[in-house]
Amino acid sequence: MIRATGTREWSDHSVNCCLGCRHGCLYCYARQAALRWGKIEAAADWTNERADADAATSRRKKYQGTVMFPTTHDITAGNGGACLSALVGLLQADNRVLVVSKAAGHVPPLLMAAHHFARGRGQIELRVSLTCLSYEMAVFWEPGAPPPAERIEAIKSARRMGMEVSISAEPLLEPDLADNLVLKVMAAGAEGEIWIGAANQFRARTAWCRGMHGLDAAISDIEAGQTPAKMRAVYEILNGNPQVRWKDSYQRVLGIDATGRPTHA
Ligand code: SF4
Repeated sequence: MIRATGTREWSDHSVNCCLGCRHGCLYCYARQAALRWGKIEAAADWTNERADADAATSRRKKYQGTVMFPTTHDITAGNGGACLSALVGLLQADNRVLVVSKAAGHVPPLLMAAHHFARGRGQIELRVSLTCLSYEMAVFWEPGAPPPAERIEAIKSARRMGMEVSISAEPLLEPDLADNLVLKVMAAGAEGEIWIGAANQFRARTAWCRGMHGLDAAISDIEAGQTPAKMRAVYEILNGNPQVRWKDSYQRVLGIDATGRPTHA
């Protein structure tokens, strides 16, 4: 049985302080949700970030369990001040915060600045979203996000600052190179969990840009890389690495739990 899906697999609460995200990932689930709920009028509005001053500065309570921040945007050069305010509020209320980010170079120092307001140690974990190592692949799917090499440097920088660093490789865009990605982030110092997840609902989530040059072929490549047999191959290579965890997409197809154990005999 799948215990939880999406952000709830990692956390108990979600906090955000911005609408939109300049990273503009083609597969963004938050863009799809914002369109569905009428928070933005057109898909192109998504990269026009609007920080929510109230959400950034509102007094935070102590939540039960881990708080994930952010979940529907990233920490970018454009909303750093709002994100810093929101984080400080969460830390001052003694929350444990899982920061999930594509980790541009400015993110680790911003987290350290926030951490000065923490009431205890170990209140922040940085989970770097790294879906591939290829610059070209990242530019296609995540056109405004920092390139993979910058995210690797952010891992090193955060570790030098003494931060806990884990990894989200969801959606895994280069499953044939999953072992390279895992070795690379471990070599950079990531000592926390490394979550492997498939690309979910790519056709629905990219409906907003249907017809874009190269999109159909790129989606077909992604789908060909995550057949049950291909997912099994990724599992066989990485299973046994104590840092590796499997997202609900892999659990469901392979009949495993998050740690890779079979869920039935
Ligand atoms: S970084 Fe996250 S929130 Fe921002 S566009 Fe990409 S998937 Fe969406």
